[in-house]
Amino acid sequence: MTEKEVKHFYNSKDWKRKRIKILDRDRHECQDCRERLRKAAEEGSRLYGEDCKIRRAQEVHHIKELREHPELALDEDNLISLCTQCHNIRHGRYPKRFVRKKKQISEEKW
Ligand SMILES: [Zn+2]
Ligand SMILES: [Zn+2]
Repeated sequence: MTEKEVKHFYNSKDWKRKRIKILDRDRHECQDCRERLRKAAEEGSRLYGEDCKIRRAQEVHHIKELREHPELALDEDNLISLCTQCHNIRHGRYPKRFVRKKKQISEEKW
């Protein structure tokens, strides 16, 4: 998939509809946060501050990258709801803690 196709995809009606469906499916809870809490409970380890809670999911992530697997673009098993922080971690991005609102914006980037 080219950059242009990716962009086009994220602007499509199908994606917007699917995205809402996935967020609803996951009850707007970040699935990685949920997993972190589950693991901590299992291991009996303690979490601190921000990490203690399940953050609200704001983004839907492609487990298998859209660019490499366009055939899975709308496959619900390939989609997961994440908060911004966990999403950044999944992509290996560690933004500074206080980024300007404007820069944070949208899921359209991915
Ligand atoms: Zn999270
Ligand atoms: Zn992603």
